[in-house]
Amino acid sequence: MNYKINTRCLYGNNTTSSKEHFGAISYPIYQTATFAHPSVGNSTGYDYTRAQNPTREQLEKILCSLEQGYDALAFSSGMAAITALMELFQPGDHIIAGNDLYGGTIRLFQSINMKNQISFDFIDTSKEDVEPYIRPQTKAIYIETPTNPMMNVTDIAKIATITKQHGILLIVDNTFLSPYFQNPLTLGADIVIHSGTKFIGGHNDTIAGFLVVNNAELSEQLHYITKTVGSGLAPFDCWLIIRGLKTLGIRMERQQENAFAIANWLLTHPRVKNVYYPGLPNHPGYEICKKQATGFGSMLTFQVDSPETALRILRSVKLIPFAESLGGVETLITYPMTQTHSDIPQDQREKTGITDTILRLSVGIEDVDDLIADLKQAFEE
Ligand SMILES: *Cc1c(COP(=O)(O)O)cnc(C)c1O
Repeated sequence: MNYKINTRCLYGNNTTSSKEHFGAISYPIYQTATFAHPSVGNSTGYDYTRAQNPTREQLEKILCSLEQGYDALAFSSGMAAITALMELFQPGDHIIAGNDLYGGTIRLFQSINMKNQISFDFIDTSKEDVEPYIRPQTKAIYIETPTNPMMNVTDIAKIATITKQHGILLIVDNTFLSPYFQNPLTLGADIVIHSGTKFIGGHNDTIAGFLVVNNAELSEQLHYITKTVGSGLAPFDCWLIIRGLKTLGIRMERQQENAFAIANWLLTHPRVKNVYYPGLPNHPGYEICKKQATGFGSMLTFQVDSPETALRILRSVKLIPFAESLGGVETLITYPMTQTHSDIPQDQREKTGITDTILRLSVGIEDVDDLIADLKQAFEE
């Protein structure tokens, strides 16, 4: 059965689980490290939770159905997912990556993967042609769209045509739009990454990550890596994410609605110089985002007239916490320069536009009038 997206948020494509587990509607938490074997050479399907656990498997099935993949794997964080993914590569391999990626991803690439002789070119995949960067050693193109925090949009299908021609992988970090609004595998990507901490969990209470793949070979390789390095998500955290996912659709819709209202209000404020939200028709990524996604999400970045204004807003917001992370029901404001992107060298940061006048909002589900009133008083404070 192929259910529609809001139904899949609850059940995946499998409604038989409520007929198992004594009819439990909420999937049970299998809080066990190990499983007894019925006899020598036989297994219940589960041996040891590092390798697999029923609660984790249930979550993986739901996420796989949301991304329309072949298989999904759940990790103890988004970074654990990306770390496992990078074990697919060998010393000498080359990867082309976006230059405006999540700061932690760039840190992993530059501090750990480069030490292991994997090399990178960081380019603006929303504007530059990737093909000239492909060499015989190139194994993958790694992108985010829209990016963090500048909301640059890359055409996934266009890059997928190139990766297919060259027989290399297209990897897409889909955290910002969530599987509710965008499904890169259906556009030709091979691997999708999520920080499950963000929209998927949705409540700012659990750290998790995912890889979703489009074929059996990648699935097998990544299960082997995960079981070997031991970074799978713990059963209780799997249950929290299963619970969070049930409301993914209604959260995404409400958060997006609030984001539109805030973006339009910011545009009218005299101290706002720029609003970067892909849902605004004059945003350079608007048309591509509209073509490849069913929504624009609830992340928006704006530029104010001076660093003093930026600091005043951060000091004066009363309702909106000044905190890292994103995607949850609570609206959060961040200062990318000193928070998420503090490890990125200044020249590189400024090249992507991340200056001391840039603020990022992850818009939540509050009453939008309260959010706008809070921002308004913070500008004026
Ligand atoms: C947060 C984030 C990550 C890392 O995920 P964690 O769950 O914090 O480890 C990766 N990519 C993007 C786009 C993110 O926002």
